[in-house]
Amino acid sequence: MCGVIGICGEQEVVNELIAGLSALQHRGQDAAGIITCSKRFNIKKGNGLVHNVFKSKNVARLQGKLGIGHVRYPTVGGGDLVDAQPFFLNSPLGIAMAHNGNVTNFWELKEELFKKNFRHINSNCDAEAILNVFADELSKQDLAKFGPETVFKTVKGVYRRVKGSYATLALIPDRGLVAFRDPHGIKPLVFGKKGNNYMFASESVALDILGYEFIRDLKPGEAVYIEEREQFFKEGRRVYERQLVKEQHRPCIFEWVYFARPDSVMDGISVYESRIRLGYELAPEVKKQKLKPDVVVPVPDTARPAATALARRLDVPLSEGLIKNRYIGRTFIMPGQAARERSVRQKLNPIRSEIRDKKVLLVDDSIVRGTTSREIINLIRGAGAKEVYFAVSAPPLKFPCVYGIDMQTRSEFIARDRQPDKIAREINADALIYQTLDGLVKAVDPKHKFCTACFTGTYPTEVPERFFKEIERERLCVKGMHLGCES
Ligand code: AMP
Repeated sequence: MCGVIGICGEQEVVNELIAGLSALQHRGQDAAGIITCSKRFNIKKGNGLVHNVFKSKNVARLQGKLGIGHVRYPTVGGGDLVDAQPFFLNSPLGIAMAHNGNVTNFWELKEELFKKNFRHINSNCDAEAILNVFADELSKQDLAKFGPETVFKTVKGVYRRVKGSYATLALIPDRGLVAFRDPHGIKPLVFGKKGNNYMFASESVALDILGYEFIRDLKPGEAVYIEEREQFFKEGRRVYERQLVKEQHRPCIFEWVYFARPDSVMDGISVYESRIRLGYELAPEVKKQKLKPDVVVPVPDTARPAATALARRLDVPLSEGLIKNRYIGRTFIMPGQAARERSVRQKLNPIRSEIRDKKVLLVDDSIVRGTTSREIINLIRGAGAKEVYFAVSAPPLKFPCVYGIDMQTRSEFIARDRQPDKIAREINADALIYQTLDGLVKAVDPKHKFCTACFTGTYPTEVPERFFKEIERERLCVKGMHLGCES
C-alpha cells in the first residue's frame, strides 16, 4: 500500500505536493518522492518520512506547475532507494509515473518488455513496469496528433497488459496529467478542484487539507486526463474522462478496516463511520460468548472508533487504558520476531489504575501474525487485569494479499491453520472474538462487492502461482532469512 498525489496548478505545486504527501503519510513511511515538471523533470526521492526527505533546497529546485508525488510502503521491491517512486522515461515525450498497488504479472511483464520491446527494467518496482508498458503503448500512437484519444488508447493498452491493482498518475510535459484506476478499482483514487487547479490523490483527506473541492472517485477502469497546453490555458483547463473497461468494482475492504485515515471518504463510504459500524457488529459476537467485561480498551489508534461503538452497545465503560508513544515507528515491518516484540513494549504502555482487577475487553482492528496481540495481552495481564478478552474488528486473516498490503507470505497468518480457540491460547487471551465476514461487509457497505481475498482466498483477478512463489522468496530475502539471497 502506498499513497499518490498529482497536481496541475496555476502556481508552483511543490508545497502543496509536500503537504498532501504528509496527509497521506500513514499509507507509507518507508520512502517519499516528487517529480515536478518545468522545462525539465525535477526529481527528489529519499528514504524516510516526508518531512525528512524534502528540505528547503529541494523545494527550491522542484519547480513547476505540474507534479506528482508518492509515499512508499514496500511490497514488490525490498525498500532500496532505487525502487522508490516516481519513475520517469525520456521517450516518448517524457513521462513521469507513480502508482499505488501491486502488479501481479510483474515478472512476466519484465521478461516480455525485454524480449519483445527491448526495454530494460532496472528496479524491482512494478511502477517501472507500468511506465514502460505505458511508454510502449504511447509510442504506437501518432504523437504529432496528440490529444485525449492518444491518452485513452494508451491507457487501454496498459489495461490489456498489466494485471493486478494500480491507481496510477502519469505526468507528460506540455501535455498534462493522466490518472487511471485499475480495471477492478481495487486501489482508491479521488480527484478534486480548486479554481483552475486539479488534484488527484489516494484519499480525500489530501483534498480537504489543501482546500480542494472533492469532485468524485475515479471509476474502475477509468482514465481522467487534465490537458495542460499553453494555447488552451486562458479558457481554463480541459478535463477528459472516460471509463475504458467495465469490470466489476472490487475495492479493497482492508482500506476501511485498517489502512485509510478515518477522516477520509472512499468510494462514497466514510472510513470513520465504517469503523463505528464494525464496533456495533462485534457486540453480538461478544454476547454470544456470554462475556461480561468491566471495561473496553482500544488498541490505539485505528481500533478506537470500533471500541467506542462496541462499549456503547455493550453498555460497558470505555477506557484509554493503553497509551501509545507517537514517536516510535511502526512495529509491523520490523525484521525478526524479537525486534517486533520489543518494539510493541516500547510503543504501548498501560494505565494500571484502569486495568487492575478488571475484566478487560481489548479491541484491535486485525490480527496478522499474532505478535502484537500476544504482547499487548501480556502487558495488560502485567498491569493486574483479572481476565483479558480480545475482540478484532476484522475476520480471521488467512490469505496473502497480492494487491499491495504487506501480508504476502502464506505462512505468516496465525489464523491460516488454527481455529479461534487455539489462537486464543497462543495469544494468551481468555476469550477471542472475531468479526464475521457478513458483519464486516454489512458494516462497511453491503451494496458494494469488495475484494475480501485476504479473508476468503478468492481474488478478483487471475494470479499466477509464480507470483506467490516470487513474493515469498523475496520477502524471505528482505528479512535476511533466505540462504541464497545476496542482500
Ligand atoms: P500482528 O502482530 O502481525 O498480528 O499485527 C497486527 C497489528 O498490525 C494490528 O494491530 C494491526 O493494526 C496492524 N496491521 C495489520 N495489518 C497491517 C499492515 N498490513 N501493515 C501494517 N500494520 C498492520
